[in-house]
Amino acid sequence: MTVTVRFAPSPTGRIHIGNARTALFNWLFAMNNKGRFIQRFDDTDIARSKQEYADSILYDLHWLGIFPDVTEYQSRRFEIYDAAVERLKAARVLYACYETPEELDLRRKVRRTRGLPPVYGREALTLTPEQVAEYQSDGRKPHWRFLLPNFTSDPLQPERTDVHWNDLVRGEETVDLASLSDPVLVREDGTYLYTLPSVVDDIEMGVSHVIRGDDHVTNTGVQIAIFKALGAEPPVFGHHNLLTTTTGEGLSKRTGALSIESLREDGIEPMAVASLAVLVGTSENVTAAHDLNALASHFDPAATSKSASKFDPDELFVLNRTLMHHMPFEEARDRLMVLGISSDKAEPFWMAVRGNLDRLSDALAWWRILSDGPQEPAEFSGEDRDFLNQAFDVLPEEPWNGTVWKDWTGKIKETTGRKGKPLFMPLRLALTGRTSGPELSDLLPLMGREGTLARRP
Ligand code: GLU
Repeated sequence: MTVTVRFAPSPTGRIHIGNARTALFNWLFAMNNKGRFIQRFDDTDIARSKQEYADSILYDLHWLGIFPDVTEYQSRRFEIYDAAVERLKAARVLYACYETPEELDLRRKVRRTRGLPPVYGREALTLTPEQVAEYQSDGRKPHWRFLLPNFTSDPLQPERTDVHWNDLVRGEETVDLASLSDPVLVREDGTYLYTLPSVVDDIEMGVSHVIRGDDHVTNTGVQIAIFKALGAEPPVFGHHNLLTTTTGEGLSKRTGALSIESLREDGIEPMAVASLAVLVGTSENVTAAHDLNALASHFDPAATSKSASKFDPDELFVLNRTLMHHMPFEEARDRLMVLGISSDKAEPFWMAVRGNLDRLSDALAWWRILSDGPQEPAEFSGEDRDFLNQAFDVLPEEPWNGTVWKDWTGKIKETTGRKGKPLFMPLRLALTGRTSGPELSDLLPLMGREGTLARRP
C-alpha cells in the first residue's frame, strides 16, 4: 500500500513554526517512504475559514519546499460526510441530543459534586418519544453524538474500554473510552465539528499514516472507534510534541507569533525554519540541514521527545548564519541579482561577505560600502589620521595579486612601526566605516586601488 499522509490545518490564520513541524513531519515521512502528501484544508467552520488563509498556507508550504500531490477542501465534501452520518444513524451509533449548553454545564457541575467524572451521562438516550416531540414542537433542533463503544449491553453502564495503538512517535498508547463524553459530531445547525469529516476523509483519501500534534491524542481514541463504526481499518497514528516559546507559551495561528510569513520577512532561510521545526525536541542536534533531502536522512519520528519542546527564536538566526556561511554563489546568484548585485565582482564579493551575514539581504549594505564607500565615514584622532595618510601613501601599485593586503600591511608596519589592532582597526574603519566585518584581504581587491585611495580620510 502506498504510504499516504496529509497535513490538515484549518485555514483560519497564517501557519506558524509549530504547524510547519507537523507539515514537515508528514512531508519527510512521505519522502522517506516514497509516499503521497495530501494537503487538506479542514474548513468545515465556514465562518472562520478563509480562502486567503488557505492560499497563504500553500505559499508558505512551497517556500519550505513542500509541494503537495493534491489539495482538498472539506467545505466541498459535505455530501460525503452527510452519507457517513446516515450510515452511523442507521447503525444506531449516532443519536440526537437536545440539551442546551447551560443544561449540560449544570449537569457537569452536579456530577462533579457527586464525585463522578464530568462526562456526558447519555441522558438523551432515555428521552421518551413524547419528550422528543415536545422539544421538537418547542423548535429545539438536535445535535448529534457518537455513541462510544464503551459498554457491554447497556450504554448507561459504561465500562473501562481501552483503545490501544502503536504510535509512530510515542510508542504504545492507550485511551479509555469510558473516561470520555460521547463526542458531538454534528451541531444543531447541521454543521460539522472536525472529528467526523477528518475520519471520513482519511478513509476516502486512503490516508495510511496520520501524523499530527499530541494535542490530538485523546481524539485518536475517539476517531479509532469511528473508523471501526464506519467499517474501516484505522490508519497508523503518530503524535509529535508541540513547540512552545522559551516562556512556555503555545503558538497560535491567531496571534501570528512566529508565523512562517514573519520569519520569511525577517530574512530567515526556509532551511533554517525547517531544520529547527523538525529537529528541536528530538534526540538529534539542531543543526542547519542544507536541503530537505539532508533533513529527511536525519528524520526519525520515534526520536521525538514526549514532552513539549521549548525553543528560542534566536536559534533561527544561528542556523541562518550557518546557511549563509556555506551558501555557494550559484545558490545566491539570482537573489543577489534581485538586490542589484550582479557585476563580475558578484562572485568574489559573495565569497568575501557570506561568512559575516545574518541574512542574505544584509549583503546589500556591504555591496554599497564597497561600491560607494562607508555609509558613515568614521571620525579619527589626529594621530590615527597621520597614520592613515602614511598608510595610503604606501598602497601598492596595480596590478594586484592575491597577496596585496599582506604586502600593503607589511609596508605599513615598516613605515609606521604600528602593528596589531592599532594598525588594523583604523584601516578597517577607514575602508568600511565599521569596526568588524569580512576579511579586509578579501575586500581590498574588490575596492581596487582607486576605490581604496578614495577612502583616505
Ligand atoms: N484540523 C486539525 C488541526 O488543525 C487537524 C488535525 C489532524 O491532523 O487530524 O488540528
